[in-house]
Amino acid sequence: MSEYVKFSCERVAAGISSFGGLAELNVFRRKLLDLRLIGAYPNGIGFGNLSVRDGATKNFYVTGSATGGMHELTLADCAKVVAYDFETNRVRYEGTAIPSSESLTHAAIYESDATAGAVIHCHCSGFWAALLNQAPTTSEAAEYGTPEIAYEIMKLLTHTDARTRKIIVMAGHEGGIVTFGKDLAEGFAVLMREREKICR
Ligand SMILES: [Zn+2]
Repeated sequence: MSEYVKFSCERVAAGISSFGGLAELNVFRRKLLDLRLIGAYPNGIGFGNLSVRDGATKNFYVTGSATGGMHELTLADCAKVVAYDFETNRVRYEGTAIPSSESLTHAAIYESDATAGAVIHCHCSGFWAALLNQAPTTSEAAEYGTPEIAYEIMKLLTHTDARTRKIIVMAGHEGGIVTFGKDLAEGFAVLMREREKICR
């Protein structure tokens, strides 16, 4: 078993290039907040994070650490990831916000699926429990924010129907669900469709 490699990040610039998708990001964050799929726990710790790919590059804008419960994000609450390394669990970024410690989970999807333009990571215990092993699922040993989970996601995208179903369940991260699509609208639609199947 490999040792736990802690997430770290390095700011390359405090300025962040303009993010055209910010208004749309806020639209989908509000829907997710209303459904309590992102938010903050009673102890104030935020959960859930979203990202949007920057054009055809491997760079992406990701919501900042601990912003899960915030109602409206500004550019200062987002970071732009401009480089990442799975093995060392490190990212380089632009902006004043610290990128989510789950940024490599997002990177794993952009890295493996060139058609993915946006990623939603939410938490919901009931939904998660019902989806476990019913949708492509990472192993229980892979904890959130680790290189292992990024490798597991890349493996699922290569060897299962995760690429077409566009949903991954994180067995080692209670409540953790990831969906993606060409944009946030598609990632959100996948989430709603899977949720309906279970709640029906
Ligand atoms: Zn999470």
